[in-house]
This record gives sequence, structure tokens and C-alpha cells, in this order.
Amino acid sequence: MAEIIDGKKTAQSIKDELRARTEELRKQGREATLAVVLVGRDLASAGYVRNKKKACEYCGIRSLSYELPETTSEQELLSLIAGLNADPAVNGILVQLPLPLHMNAQKVIEAISPAKDVDGFHPQSVGALSIGLPGYRSCTPAGIIELLRRYHIAMAGKECVIVGRSNIVGKPMAMLMLREDATVTIAHSKTADLAAVTRRADILIVAVGKAGLIEKKHVKPGAVVIDCGMNRDPDGTLCGDVNFAEVEELCSAITPVPGGVGPMTIAMLMSNCLDSLALQRH
Ligand code: NDP
Repeated sequence: MAEIIDGKKTAQSIKDELRARTEELRKQGREATLAVVLVGRDLASAGYVRNKKKACEYCGIRSLSYELPETTSEQELLSLIAGLNADPAVNGILVQLPLPLHMNAQKVIEAISPAKDVDGFHPQSVGALSIGLPGYRSCTPAGIIELLRRYHIAMAGKECVIVGRSNIVGKPMAMLMLREDATVTIAHSKTADLAAVTRRADILIVAVGKAGLIEKKHVKPGAVVIDCGMNRDPDGTLCGDVNFAEVEELCSAITPVPGGVGPMTIAMLMSNCLDSLALQRH
């Protein structure tokens, strides 16, 4: 039976550590403020935003909420971001994705000051990560590294296969794993023989968005399996990209869905918010 990597418990420990840090900072008269921007009425996005604001409250981070109607123009959103960039009382800016179709998400991401880019999506943050300079790290990949560290899972010299090459998970994950001295392979929808590639992995990280894509045949016995997927199965239950019941029998450790990578993403966002205080001092 595999060890279950408990993201919920680990995220709770991190949030407790951050809460202690914010108490110390408050004694020095310093407070972090996160501006959270939501455009439209997408139910899933509204849920993510609610969870992020709740985490802010728990950790002692002030959150400012901007809930804009679906009909907001791109220019109106860009003006709001410009105002938040210029406001010294705001340390971090988060624009919840996806944005309505009439907006250019990349343009919006690039409008956020790199000093306040706590999601780590700005090209400057991505570039800094690629060449090992300080900067914000994308929260989901950063959360996975933190989970592996806290479970004492060695990364240096290991074969790591990442399935998925998105800008927010797969690619930054590869960069972070390289920084940990893993040997990294990225697989994607055009990979010719997915199972042959994933079976090489000592650490298999899956970020695709297809329920049950990864089965027993994709996993080397004893591998560590990290599942980022957030899907709904036919009866509406949240599930990952990995067929958990099958894979758990042969891997050494695995993250569940829910309760694995998801809670870590929010904990790392909180961590980035506190780091923003230090980054903006220089
Ligand atoms: P994207 O849709 O942006 O990317 C999916 C990737 O999977 C693409 O690179 C695509 O390849 C690849 N892919 C699609 N089908 C296959 C296949 N059959 N075999 C191999 N690769 C395939 O998704 P995201 O990266 O944004 O998200 C991935 C999953 O992670 C989703 O379920 C999402 O909800 C979840 N997620 C969870 C987070 C959390 O906090 N837990 C945070 C962010 C995401 P190609 O590039 O060739 O099209």
C-alpha cells in the first residue's frame, strides 16, 4: 500500500507557520495585503476566490475584493490593475482565471506589476524562475516541491516525468524540478507512447485535466505519483487524472484528490503574499 501524501494536513501546517510570521510582522507594524479580482460569475472561479480569501483571513493577510460584472471591458480591468500597481498599500494582485472570452488574458497578466505578481504568471516571473533569479514561483508547482520536501522524498538525480505542459503547471514544474537536480521529461498530448515515457519516472507528476488518464500500466512499481488533476466524474465527484485505486497498489506514495495538491496551491499563494513584503522592500 502506498503512503498517502496528505496535502491538506501539510497546507494546514504551512498556514500555521505563515500565521505566526504575520503576527511577528504585525508587531513591527507591517501587514501584507492581497487584492483579489474576479470578473464574471463562473461558479468554480467564485469558489476558488472564496477559498483564497478565507485562507488570507486565517493567515492574517488583509484581502481586498474586486468582483466585477461579466460585461466589464478589458480597458476597465486594466485601469483597475494600474491603480492597484500604483497603490503602496497593496502587496499582491491576483486576477482569477479564466477571464471572460472578450478579454486577452495574457495582456491582463502582463499588466500586473512583476513585484506584485503573487500567482507567478508574469513573463518576468517565469523568466526569473527559468534562469534561477529570485521571483515569484507559480503556486501549484511550488506547492508540489514543498510537499515532496516535507515528505522527505529525494528529487536530486531522480527521473521525473511531468505529463502536461501548460504555462501554469507543467512548464514551471519542469523548471522547479530541474532546480532540484531531477532529470526531467515533459510529456503532452502529442507524446507517441505515453506509458513508455511515464514508466521511466521515479516521480510522476500529472497535470492534464482528464479523469483516470493514468492507469497501472503508466506507473513504475515504487514510483511517487503526484496528481494535479481536478475533474468531475460522471456522478459529479471531484477526482484527479490518476486512477487512484489501481495506481495506489503499486506506487510508493501518492497524492489523493481532493486533499493533495489543491490545498498546497492556496498555501503557496499565501506564502508568496508574505514574500511580497520582503521583495517590495528592495
Ligand atoms: P491545460 O489544459 O492548460 O493543459 C493540459 C496539458 O495536458 C496540455 O499540455 C496537454 O497537451 C496535456 N494533455 C492533454 N491530453 C493529454 C493526453 N491524452 N496525454 C498527455 N498529455 C495530455 O491544463 P492545466 O495545466 O491548467 O491543468 C491541468 C489539470 O490540473 C486540470 O485538471 C486543472 O483543473 C488542474 N489544476 C489544479 C490546480 C490545483 O490547484 N490543484 C491548479 C491548476 C490546475 P498539449 O499541450 O499537447 O495540448
